[in-house]
Amino acid sequence: MTCSNAVAPSSSQPGVVVSTSEARSILTPASGFMQRYRYTLNPYAGCAFGCPYCYARAFVFRAAEEESWGRWVTAKRNAIELVAAACRSGDLADGDAVYLSSVTDPYQPIERRLRLTRGILEAILTAGVQPRLTVQTRSPLVVRDVDLLRRFEHLRVNVTVSTDSDAIRREYEPRCPPITARFGALEALARAGVRIGVSVSPMLPIEDPRGFGARLAALRADEYVTQYLKPPAPRSAGGTSRAVLDRLRADGWGPREYRHAATAIRVALGEAGPLLEGMQGYAPA
Ligand code: SF4
Repeated sequence: MTCSNAVAPSSSQPGVVVSTSEARSILTPASGFMQRYRYTLNPYAGCAFGCPYCYARAFVFRAAEEESWGRWVTAKRNAIELVAAACRSGDLADGDAVYLSSVTDPYQPIERRLRLTRGILEAILTAGVQPRLTVQTRSPLVVRDVDLLRRFEHLRVNVTVSTDSDAIRREYEPRCPPITARFGALEALARAGVRIGVSVSPMLPIEDPRGFGARLAALRADEYVTQYLKPPAPRSAGGTSRAVLDRLRADGWGPREYRHAATAIRVALGEAGPLLEGMQGYAPA
């Protein structure tokens, strides 16, 4: 990206500096975990949700950006024009598998005002292109765009619900929307006829695995996927910080507890399942 300009911090994001930037490209050839997709699409860089366990923080250019992860967001102000141009040129075509988004959440709090993700959806539809689109978010703001989402022929909205406990959510992802709001978003999308997936990833401590599984089953989602936190890894490999893993251990949560909870959720899901793990899930829509 080039030409980064600071703009006024948004009152909806206390402590988060929002800037805009001119992106050279917007569709990134997918690889690694996303290798079944043709492109990843990130309208923003950075993420105001700032989850302490986030692996995406490792994929920034400067160490200072990694250190201040969660306190800055850069909106790619020409993202809509770039997507429209890709549709015109045929770089984005019918059937292309696109993951929106891989290293940020496309429904940042500032999206309410900037409408960048919404503009991208509109640009694709206006061009008459029907990609296989997976939207990955943890924000109920996605429901705002249900009028557009339902016009995609091959689309799934995955909502991240990493725990059943708002106490755990406040400890490990305090700036993320409450759990009930995420369930509400999933229910609203399903009611509107939008295919949904639930991403219990990374799975944080679960208070009542059976009850959580039953609640997930009632959603009748198209896909359920989970995984434990990634192990620590060298910078750029995108692992979980050792401090977070240690904190979870102190809270009695490790791989063994994860496996027990996943088994109980799997049983509770029954025919509504299966509960996929890691790369078994996140299939293109
Ligand atoms: S919402 Fe996703 S991208 Fe944003 S900080 Fe949390 S894990 Fe990272």
